[in-house]
Amino acid sequence: MNYARFLTAVSGARKPSPIRMLTELQQRSPPSLISLAGGAPNPNTFPFQSASIQLKNGQTLNFDEVVTKRALQYSASNGIPELLTWMKNLQKNLHSPPSADYAPEKGQMDMCVTTGSQEGLCKVFEMLVNPGDNVLLDAPTYSGTLAALQPLGCNIINVPSDQHGIIPTALKTVLSRWDPSEVHKPGSSVPRILYTIPNGGNPTGASMTAERKKDVYELARLYDMLIIEDDPYYFLQFDKPWAPTFLSMDVDGRIIRTDSFSKILSSGLRIGFVTGPKPLVDRIVLHIQASTMHTSTFTQLMVSHLLHDWEQEGFLQHIDRVIEFYKRQRDAMVCSAEKWLKDLAEWHPPSAGMFLWMKLKGVADTQQLIMEKALEKEVLLVPGGVFMINSGEPCPYVRAAFSLSTPEQIDEAFRRLALLIREAL
Ligand code: PMP
Ligand code: PLP
Repeated sequence: MNYARFLTAVSGARKPSPIRMLTELQQRSPPSLISLAGGAPNPNTFPFQSASIQLKNGQTLNFDEVVTKRALQYSASNGIPELLTWMKNLQKNLHSPPSADYAPEKGQMDMCVTTGSQEGLCKVFEMLVNPGDNVLLDAPTYSGTLAALQPLGCNIINVPSDQHGIIPTALKTVLSRWDPSEVHKPGSSVPRILYTIPNGGNPTGASMTAERKKDVYELARLYDMLIIEDDPYYFLQFDKPWAPTFLSMDVDGRIIRTDSFSKILSSGLRIGFVTGPKPLVDRIVLHIQASTMHTSTFTQLMVSHLLHDWEQEGFLQHIDRVIEFYKRQRDAMVCSAEKWLKDLAEWHPPSAGMFLWMKLKGVADTQQLIMEKALEKEVLLVPGGVFMINSGEPCPYVRAAFSLSTPEQIDEAFRRLALLIREAL
């Protein structure tokens, strides 16, 4: 893989921060090293001394003074080593990515910690997308993705999809306007990246089958594209076995995967991970050096202590409990939809994530319905238009989240929505 051809001029021009390199060198050195090099402030002047965090299972995470000092200090831009090691092991066990075995020059897999997967995604796009580039994605898609991509001035090309995600034959048709032999010609307009949410898509709830992923991966090979696999709902797949990921199929080093702890440990702590070819992860880390410097050390240590305490088994047991919750919520929402909206809307029950995507029959555009009338009825949903590439386009869909409301509240909300739709018809 020639990764240089994927980089924007800005990303290509990033250079390591000399001070950050010294800081990271110092953190790997024995305590006998006397460093006058770092620009780190003295944590003895900080007001915080220690911390103890109670877990719901009765355990306590104790940060003594030494750990707290470290938690309050600058740390490496790619993430604290023990959290990265834990996550690399998890990735290897869950996905056994072929690229993990590559030599660095062949795009060996690497990881970095990000402040939520949103930071990772935003930096991935800024690394890869030039004004005027053609970018492929299956809309409707996560509005945060559109917010990060659209200002880059790219031309977003929609790839048709259904409840099982991208339709490979449709992708093939979209790509057929280009000749695969022209991909590497200077000035070629062949898309270089494809973005998708493979599980429990936001907003559609769609989950891609292994077969479709294989077909899409083969098309990515044919046109030498990178695939951005944005998978924050991976751990919210309701049925086992979980679908194999793009990362698990990545024999070339063309997958950049973003993972998130937002839906399973905490959304406010802001922890995500980018997994991908080392030359690309290195570029993202240079961007982090120049922006946030690193994800909060305190946050990383808190999560890392928990994960090392739990080990992988405890983590996966926790995931099982989270899945059980969301599965019950999904069932409750689908049940209420059948009760109140049977004749008024259409939907596919999602097999992952936290969203039900509904097409309202006889409503041409849900924007007006939701923004003007729904509040009067005291029910709120997201009008589907915000997930479209052209957000002004009329859209008959709404997104309902089953994450936060009780089954009783969901039932009442759908009763109110049914009234609202009937009045609008
Ligand atoms: N600006 C200057 C002039 C600095 O010296 C530093 C820290 N060394 C920063 C900005 C970055 O500070 P922060 O840790 O708040 O990101
Ligand atoms: N990607 C998708 C598809 C999402 O739905 C979200 C959150 O809603 C994110 C990324 C951002 O997640 P994080 O909290 O990890 O930044």
